[in-house]
Amino acid sequence: MIGLMMQQPLLVASLLTHACRHHADQEIVSRRVEGGIHRYRFVDLGVRSRRMANALAALGIQPGDRVATLAWNGYRHLEINFAVSGSGAVLHTINPRLHLDQIAYIVEHADDRAIFFDLTFLPIIEALQARLSTPRLFVAMCDAACMPPANDSLLCYERLIESHKSDFDWPTMDENTASSLCYTSGTTGHPKGVLYSHRSTVLHSYAGALPDAFNCSARDTILPVVPMFHVNAWGLPFIACMVGAKLVLPGPALDGKSLYELIEAEQVTMSAGVPTIWQGLLAHVTAQGGRFSSMKRTVIGGAPCPTAMAAEFQKVHNVDVLHAWGMTELSPLGTVCSLKAQHLSLPEDARYGIQAKQGRAVFGIDMKIVDHNGKSLSWDGESVGDLLVRGPWVASAYFGDTATSPLSDGWFPTGDMARIDRDGFMQITDRSKDVIKSGGEWISSIDIENIACLHPGVASATCIGVRHPKWDERPLLLITRAAGSALEKDELLSFFDGRLARWWKPDDVVFVDSFPLGATGKVLKNRLREQFVDHYAG
Ligand code: ADP
Repeated sequence: MIGLMMQQPLLVASLLTHACRHHADQEIVSRRVEGGIHRYRFVDLGVRSRRMANALAALGIQPGDRVATLAWNGYRHLEINFAVSGSGAVLHTINPRLHLDQIAYIVEHADDRAIFFDLTFLPIIEALQARLSTPRLFVAMCDAACMPPANDSLLCYERLIESHKSDFDWPTMDENTASSLCYTSGTTGHPKGVLYSHRSTVLHSYAGALPDAFNCSARDTILPVVPMFHVNAWGLPFIACMVGAKLVLPGPALDGKSLYELIEAEQVTMSAGVPTIWQGLLAHVTAQGGRFSSMKRTVIGGAPCPTAMAAEFQKVHNVDVLHAWGMTELSPLGTVCSLKAQHLSLPEDARYGIQAKQGRAVFGIDMKIVDHNGKSLSWDGESVGDLLVRGPWVASAYFGDTATSPLSDGWFPTGDMARIDRDGFMQITDRSKDVIKSGGEWISSIDIENIACLHPGVASATCIGVRHPKWDERPLLLITRAAGSALEKDELLSFFDGRLARWWKPDDVVFVDSFPLGATGKVLKNRLREQFVDHYAG
């Protein structure tokens, strides 16, 4: 028997319509590329998104066409997001930190009809104009006064907005229609396109807003530091529309000082970003002797959150840390480390130990760990295996390659190794390509980094496996020292005694000034492995 409920498709535009109707006066505050702070309300976002939808139609953009952006988090990026997806086309957010060859590759691969860009990225656009095989539309996201004078092939965003009406009815379509496209950062080969649907996006927003996920409400002021080109800012702009939260968009200024000023000025209550961003913010706040007057919690994900960072946020600043794990292929949310009731009475250090884990699957995500034969391993907190997931916002194939399935028996192999405890808290031990294989056994580079970061003389730590004549590979620890620290190798190595199995202890420590970072702000371990390949060569 079929239920008798309405068949109402889950559509991205309905998030905007809801925000306009129920939270019309809620603010959206953006730091502009041209300078200064811009503010308007959800109702204004609605009006301008509809004008842009009319402009797209006038430019000949058809349902299913890909429209790309090279842009920071800002109000125009939000508008174009809703205008494109809402009218049935596909928003392709390009990561401007990718190498130009990769950007050119994905623009061709996605066959983007138009590219909307912030002025910061004009040099990339000009390089692309010179090398793309077919002509595309290029739209500078600024007003007429800021248009680059030397390039007359560009369209002006504000002119498009001005010259179109705001009457536009968002079309009703199948909820499985593609809404947006995001490429993986390509640290493991060519970037691959993940094609989200309206349905997956709306369901992901419901899950992300839940109390044990990002816990968002109309009383929040949300600052997504994570860029929209990094998996849709982890869904936060959509979640803000769904719950009616104030939205603060940092534009290009992602340094500690600028973020801190914005957080305080706009009384931000929650934020989200990768660990490298928080390192910059904490260093700035500590140097100033500052405090957070409004921040209640921050989501840290994309790479492991060092225990020391979680402790500093919570102990010193009274800001709760939500350690989260996800992937481009998961829209991106998979797990969040929200404590259960029984954890609240634990001593501080035990709680921080739990928060080092990537956490529990949000409803909608099913996960398992398997051994090399594909046999499920038990959730005993010790067995380590390949992590597989499935769910309505998990990719089933890559854009332009539907003939090959990445799935294994209906499950998506994440490429991560993990353990899961009895309470369902998952902990990534490594990406499978980063795991250190020593004498036939595995060593978790993340566990080693976490311990190193507990030493006050350490600012950040990266551990890699380096070829070894006797043991195949041995761990090498790379460290950036905390400001003013004179930490030396022997002191750091003895810090590991009693904190981890003796044979897991790194054989050597190298002090560096900084680490090479990839397009999403993660340490490029493959580059370090190449650099230090002969470190233990005898
Ligand atoms: P890319 O794989 O191109 O870097 P993603 O941003 O999709 O792009 O990265 C997903 C990967 O990032 C995960 O498979 C995992 O290895 C890593 N990751 C994400 N969040 C965490 C986390 N909290 N702790 C450890 N690793 C994480």
